[in-house]
Amino acid sequence: MTKTVYFDNNATTRVAPEVVEEMLPYFHDLYGNPSSMHFFGGQVNRKVEDAREKVAALLGAKPDEIIFTSCGTESDNASIMGTLDRYPEKRHFVTTRVEHPAVWNLCPYLRSKDYRITELSVDRNGQLDLEELKSVIGDDTALVSIMYANNETGVIFPVDAIGEIVKARGIPFHTDAVQAVGKIPLDMSRQPIDMLSLSGHKLHAPKGIGVLYLRRGTKFSPLMKGGHQEKGRRGGTENVPYILGLGKAAELAMANMEEENTRVVALRDRMEKGLVESIPSTIVNGEGMSRLPNTSSVCFECVEGESILMMLDEIGVCASSGSACTSGSLEPSHVLRAMGVPFTAAHGSIRLSLSVYNKDEEVDHLLKHMPSIIENLRDISPFWKDFKEGKLPAAFAG
Ligand code: PLP
Repeated sequence: MTKTVYFDNNATTRVAPEVVEEMLPYFHDLYGNPSSMHFFGGQVNRKVEDAREKVAALLGAKPDEIIFTSCGTESDNASIMGTLDRYPEKRHFVTTRVEHPAVWNLCPYLRSKDYRITELSVDRNGQLDLEELKSVIGDDTALVSIMYANNETGVIFPVDAIGEIVKARGIPFHTDAVQAVGKIPLDMSRQPIDMLSLSGHKLHAPKGIGVLYLRRGTKFSPLMKGGHQEKGRRGGTENVPYILGLGKAAELAMANMEEENTRVVALRDRMEKGLVESIPSTIVNGEGMSRLPNTSSVCFECVEGESILMMLDEIGVCASSGSACTSGSLEPSHVLRAMGVPFTAAHGSIRLSLSVYNKDEEVDHLLKHMPSIIENLRDISPFWKDFKEGKLPAAFAG
């Protein structure tokens, strides 16, 4: 069997063995409810609070600003709905055209509830225009939600400058930092952020655990109304083993941060350089911009991203496509579309996302096989010959 080379860490990560070890006793021996009055629950409660401190340390936050949720999507929904609920007279919500569906797909819903939505545009490098942000926010703006780093391209937004603009107008600021946490250093004690979402499964904890960071004093109404858990801000009995797993993962992320930003980034850069040098008409999206250390979004002109993924599958490489196949038609991703990536390139995009578990020889394996994969696909492409000769109609190239 071909060895698996896992380059899809922005989709989900391997649960670290140390995380599994931390969690196991809380399934079979220490299964108490942290809210129980007896000693059996009390000891579990202390462990939950330890985990809260570890997550707070990773974010430079105070432990009581950490609310455990079920996932990144819940944290995003809770921040947005929980803020809008507190400012019912304000009907304007500002976000961007490149958010993850966890935020983006709230927009049609909010429109149906008579909210006015501004989706900020990005340029060819995936970057925002802060003057546009300044010009759209007004007295009616209830909330600005802008992601920290893009899940497809890895492009990092200037979150500090954004937060300063937004907070100078007295407006709450939420950031979806699901892809940033654990990969780059964050520090809520100095960053102008009121709310932040993170998801455990992107940093080597299991799927099904997330966090909403809520700065002290931020107005918020709980999405999950129920018991008194999480100081009344998120009802529901705590998912103890997963919370402890996330605490451990936060500790590991702090320990691995330097490696992520030295070895992993060097591996990613070598991979990109190798692809661009060995395959003509290859574009790295957001190249030269401030990007996550592990993420690469690469377009190969005149091939289908899905076909590349199928060929990669055969050599044991897991990656993901920048395009989503919706209702039988191949639509390029909304992120690349918003960046104005040409049609023929956007269709041939793939995302390669690394982690501290990836090794040099895995990148060598990819670089060895990729040129022939692309060449074979271009041989059967209806566009490649015309593209190469500069004869492709403008409607296709643009
Ligand atoms: N936000 C971003 C930027 C993401 O990349 C993801 C997951 O891919 C999410 C939110 C959703 O997180 P979860 O899968 O934990 O709901």
